[in-house]
Amino acid sequence: MCELPSCSSGDTPFAAGLAEVRAGRRTLLKVGGAGVAFSTAAGALGAAAAAAAAAPPGNRKRAYVLVVDGCRPEEIDSGLTPNLAALRNGGLRFPRASSMPVMETIPNHVMMMTGMRPDRTGVPANSIYDRKLGETRTMERASDIKVDTVIERLNRKGYRTGTVLSKEYLYGVFGDRATARWEPAPIIPISGHAPDHFTMNAALTMVEELDPHLMFVNLGDIDRFGHSDFTGTTVRVARKLALVDTDLLVGRFVDMLKSTGRWEHSIVVVLADHSMDWSRPDRVISLQSSMDADPFLGGKVAISANGGADLLYWTGAAAERTRAITRMRQIALATPGVLSAPRRTDKWLRLGPEAGDVVVFCKSGWRFSDPDPITDNPIPGNHGHPATRAIPFFIGGGHPRVPSRSASSAHAKTVDVAPTIASFFGVGSPRRGWDGIARL
Ligand SMILES: [Zn+2]
Repeated sequence: MCELPSCSSGDTPFAAGLAEVRAGRRTLLKVGGAGVAFSTAAGALGAAAAAAAAAPPGNRKRAYVLVVDGCRPEEIDSGLTPNLAALRNGGLRFPRASSMPVMETIPNHVMMMTGMRPDRTGVPANSIYDRKLGETRTMERASDIKVDTVIERLNRKGYRTGTVLSKEYLYGVFGDRATARWEPAPIIPISGHAPDHFTMNAALTMVEELDPHLMFVNLGDIDRFGHSDFTGTTVRVARKLALVDTDLLVGRFVDMLKSTGRWEHSIVVVLADHSMDWSRPDRVISLQSSMDADPFLGGKVAISANGGADLLYWTGAAAERTRAITRMRQIALATPGVLSAPRRTDKWLRLGPEAGDVVVFCKSGWRFSDPDPITDNPIPGNHGHPATRAIPFFIGGGHPRVPSRSASSAHAKTVDVAPTIASFFGVGSPRRGWDGIARL
């Protein structure tokens, strides 16, 4: 039996994490009455304490990154989120902010923490066709991120870092990079995430118990309630409840920072990883059958579906790739609901070879369901396509670096988070530079 508050079985990131804890490779720091479990690499505590003693001056600085997963920017003006609105209006806001392709959860969280685009991070989408395995899979392995994150950059300078990630695959892909990691619980089956109430409780406890200099938090409820809506009216009700609830939790977090004297030393970066679009039941695109029906392409195209984006992989002879790409694009572009079908190698995409050969985006109000048009992606709430680019992005907090009541005309992006954090702590930049821009 597992002693942790929740226990998954099977080959999931969470099961792998539990196995590390059981095998003694990670140490449980606390399994308290509140049911909050944090872990750290075995032996890391002593090292962290020694490093902290040698931490650079000014280490009262704190940075908190709160991701309101799937939140649309206009929802902050809905009247349902007074705490988020106050945080935004009191600090520096970026009205033109956006998610980056592919507008999915994992690649954008990875961009936030690496400050690099997917052709460098190795993580272009939630789901890829893994050519080595010969199957599609979720990018949820810690080894999927090929570059340093700002988390490791801070660790090396003696700062403490923490991850409080509500979704199993985020927990998986960030692995044991942070000094301390929340072992999320309870996880809701199917949705694969811990409710925000538990996530925020863990974030508050982590600040009180471990006081990380940087803490990276994913709040998954707004996204999950967006996905699970089936009709235009229940959409709004469930989504509204999630917005109200998550906003109250963010308010609790800000209150804690103020009541414990941390606010004056803190920046609080709030953003979404992508927004959300809802498709009509009859507006579903499935490309697999069209590809298979083509005499040239048939049986040689693999597809990994990512909500509003389909990644197409040519699995035939390399010598025929150019012809195959042309044909895949022709078929995709002739399909109702398809917005665009750029070549993966188009420079502006910067997705890297893991993303295949052709990236197909849908129009607003549509979604992909591949390879099976009935069983894959039956949910109307989706993102990944250009209609879901706009995100809320603002920096609050009482640290003097945060301008008060300011709006920036800059086009801020998810990839800007790591350079902003690195600049705040003064920990330098990667040898080949950031792809994002420090926004403070
Ligand atoms: Zn997301």
